[in-house]
Amino acid sequence: MSAPFFLGNVIDVIYTSPGADSARSLSRLCLLLSGVFLGGAAANAVRVYLMQTAGQRIVTRLRAALFASVLRQEVAFFDKTRTGELVNRLSSDAALLGRSITENLSDGLRAGAQASIGVGMMFFVSPKMATFVLSVVPPLSILAVIYGRYLRKLTKVTQDSLAQATQLAEESIGNIRTVRAFGKEMIEIEKYTSKVGYVMHLARKEALARAGFFGATGLSGNLIVLSVLYKGGLLMGSAHMTVGELSSFLMYSFWVGLSIGGLSSFYSELMKGLGAGGRLWELMERKPVLPFNEGAMPREEAFQGTLEFRHVRFAYPARPEAQVLQDLSLRIPAGSVTALVGPSGSGKSTVVSLLLRLYDPVSGTVSLDGCDIRQLNPVWLRSKIGTVSQEPILFSCSIAENIAYGADDPALVTAEQVEKVADVANAAAFIRNFPQGFSTVVGEKGVLLSGGQKQRIAIARALLKNPKILLLDEATSALDAENEHLVQEALDRLMEGRTVLVIAHRLSTVKRAHRVAVLSQGRIAEYGRHEGLLAKPDGLYRRLMDKQSFASA
Ligand code: ADP
Repeated sequence: MSAPFFLGNVIDVIYTSPGADSARSLSRLCLLLSGVFLGGAAANAVRVYLMQTAGQRIVTRLRAALFASVLRQEVAFFDKTRTGELVNRLSSDAALLGRSITENLSDGLRAGAQASIGVGMMFFVSPKMATFVLSVVPPLSILAVIYGRYLRKLTKVTQDSLAQATQLAEESIGNIRTVRAFGKEMIEIEKYTSKVGYVMHLARKEALARAGFFGATGLSGNLIVLSVLYKGGLLMGSAHMTVGELSSFLMYSFWVGLSIGGLSSFYSELMKGLGAGGRLWELMERKPVLPFNEGAMPREEAFQGTLEFRHVRFAYPARPEAQVLQDLSLRIPAGSVTALVGPSGSGKSTVVSLLLRLYDPVSGTVSLDGCDIRQLNPVWLRSKIGTVSQEPILFSCSIAENIAYGADDPALVTAEQVEKVADVANAAAFIRNFPQGFSTVVGEKGVLLSGGQKQRIAIARALLKNPKILLLDEATSALDAENEHLVQEALDRLMEGRTVLVIAHRLSTVKRAHRVAVLSQGRIAEYGRHEGLLAKPDGLYRRLMDKQSFASA
């Protein structure tokens, strides 16, 4: 900030005292200025480095905290919030906010310091002219505030529409097989184009506002310089000012003008950051409705594994008006196998979700060994429960890693353990037939494997977890006889010695279950052994058994 002052001095030295004397003071002044410039350059380099790394660290921590917060949310939250939107918050919003509060902040601070020192120096050099010149600042600040507010609102809308576009892209790319099968590529492309087109429309609005604002600030900067020249010329004519003073003043006003430009872009970037940040804070500070990792953890010795539903009523939070379970009561004694059957949509999967405490019942209790599961630590509870679903979802890593996912600490699982459970799950043979064996990568969600293969890997995963309680959802899709036999055998081995609730679709399963519960209209309509239930003439179970799905099994 001292540069213009010294440069003014240099000019005055050149103008006023020619001769040998002036040459000496000239070189002294220039040397001093070189030192100042060098120091300034070093400080600037350090500033850029520190701010950039600080920015990256902030973005990193922001992303990690946001991801942690998202993964802690209850399942109902994910029923309502879409994946693409969350991904967009993690990538685009976090980057925007990070940039706005670091690099931009440092530029802003610098511009602020420069402007205030510049203004001070202007008053120091010529108070009269300084007052005259700075009269433009108040109207400019009002303009800046209006512009900033507008930008903040606009950014919120822009980031939301961007999130929608990302959501759409994520869904069509993720479901490309369905999109292709229905030949909807062109329609999806059009939809996406129109979404990003809307983002473009908003960007154009922002560009327009920006153009007006920066046009106005640029114009006022130039007007300032012009008026300085005009008024300074007059003052110099009346010998109230030297050439050096006028030059210093001009340079300071240039500097102040530039800094005001810097300040306004700082302000607009900050408003954009805050616009993007609003949604981020909302997400980061959201308290999950269900606790994540707190509550009682019963002693291992006392743990039996008896499950009980007592007068449970339930409706999904996303659809509170549709009662799914109404006064459901069911007891699953420790170590027994209970088969759950019922028409499609009767709420069988919902029963499983309630046992995993993905949702809480509206009224009534779900208990484990007589203790309401709402008092238990959900992480502990889920560590005691293994699940194999109809369409097991695998991660896009190797088969070995997918199996090891079942363990408490996958890093500690040895290759022998993985192979052993794969053997028990009847999966080892087909895995060894792959050229890469257990290192075979299964593709996104396991698309590179057949349904029967995925199921056996899921069974191996559950075996490795070795849970006391097992929740199974049998595949409805018919496997070929060979596969069917292998999966069935693997399941039988998995069920041994555990408390099992199985959503049954096969005759063999209901026949072997200790108890069968028939779910209808949100409650257990019939309960007993297979033969007993079948003996009831006109019973619901009998009608279900007559249906094709069971007959084929
Ligand atoms: P089943 O497993 O017996 O076929 P479900 O338990 O999957 O039946 O579904 C029971 C009812 O709950 C259905 O009417 C279904 O539309 C509804 N449902 C399932 N999942 C959700 C959800 N996440 N949000 C809202 N409603 C749901």
